[in-house]
Amino acid sequence: MTTTEQAVIHNFNAGPSILPKEVFQQASEAILNFNNTGLSILEIGHRTSLFQAVMDEAQALVKELMGLDNSKAVLFLHGGASTQFMQIPMNLLDEKGTAAYTETGTWANKAIKEAKLFGSVQIAGSGKESNYTALPKSLQVDPTSTYLHITTNETIAGTQWKNMPFEYGVPVIADMSSDILSRNLDFNKFSLIYAGAQKNMGAAGVNLVVLDESVLGKVNRTIPTMLDYRNHIKEGSMLNTPPVFAVYVVLLTLRWLKNMGGVAAIEKLNREKADLLYHTIDSNPIFKGTIAREDRSDMNVVFVMDNPTLEAEFQQICKENNMIGVKGHRSVGGFRISLYNALQLSSVKALTDLMNDFAKRKG
Ligand SMILES: *Cc1c(COP(=O)(O)O)cnc(C)c1O
Repeated sequence: MTTTEQAVIHNFNAGPSILPKEVFQQASEAILNFNNTGLSILEIGHRTSLFQAVMDEAQALVKELMGLDNSKAVLFLHGGASTQFMQIPMNLLDEKGTAAYTETGTWANKAIKEAKLFGSVQIAGSGKESNYTALPKSLQVDPTSTYLHITTNETIAGTQWKNMPFEYGVPVIADMSSDILSRNLDFNKFSLIYAGAQKNMGAAGVNLVVLDESVLGKVNRTIPTMLDYRNHIKEGSMLNTPPVFAVYVVLLTLRWLKNMGGVAAIEKLNREKADLLYHTIDSNPIFKGTIAREDRSDMNVVFVMDNPTLEAEFQQICKENNMIGVKGHRSVGGFRISLYNALQLSSVKALTDLMNDFAKRKG
């Protein structure tokens, strides 16, 4: 082994998380010499044609990969998905209005808390009774609601919506932070989609926001300049200095995804990874899936051990085999295995081999 070679690390981190190797390679090259300019990506002005080309291509690739029509604006904003929790109701929800929210876990609850600062919130459906191990089976949505908010994938709980709730006749807004570009959806049917980049799409520090301009301009309050979507749309997502490097890493990741065959191709691979892992959990009684079968996530696989005293031992085995990020979120316990786009099937095979072996020894 030469000094530059590294042992394979299987990165199951929930976020920030694995990105394609070639993206890391290209991003590091751009830090030293961006597009053969002799300059670093970190030292060029965002108003230069060099960076404008990055922004243009990143926006165009989002539109292409998601199949967006021309009514949609694509923005790259600061502040993480958590800023969208407040920016959305600030721009859309009038003080006298009501927004419908699905309450499906930690992230949904954070969104609900912020929306209440701006208007009324009606809980359209909740998974609280099951401790968020299942999604609500039916929703109560008032047809006068300003919008309906869902978290398409609850990163901590390990649930994922399979059917989108478009049937209520109100604009649907989705937090797709942890499953953006992982599967094909009818993205044009959403009025607003947002996602922090650091789970499936790039580096931390930038948010993707895809929105329909028709939902804007309906509230009475004064919106601060930087928080008003209309200003960002008007300025082509360059109202102020965008997170230049983070946008560039998103561009590299989008190019990689396109080369892989786009969203349909990655969805197939993601399904294969999730099927293998869930099959291993389901077929070894030593492991116990905790999420309702029809709601389990293809991105964040949550499970425990039937005998909790074995959990530390298996965690140690994972560690010895260079598997990182397998521990469940502190609020849930057990294990959480994140299977984002860049994670290879071989990593899931390596993990399931360990699981089968452990089950044989302990079962
Ligand atoms: C990680 C995550 C967030 C928070 O993202 P930040 O960029 O840290 O603000 C919000 N929603 C979901 C579903 C997430 O997974």
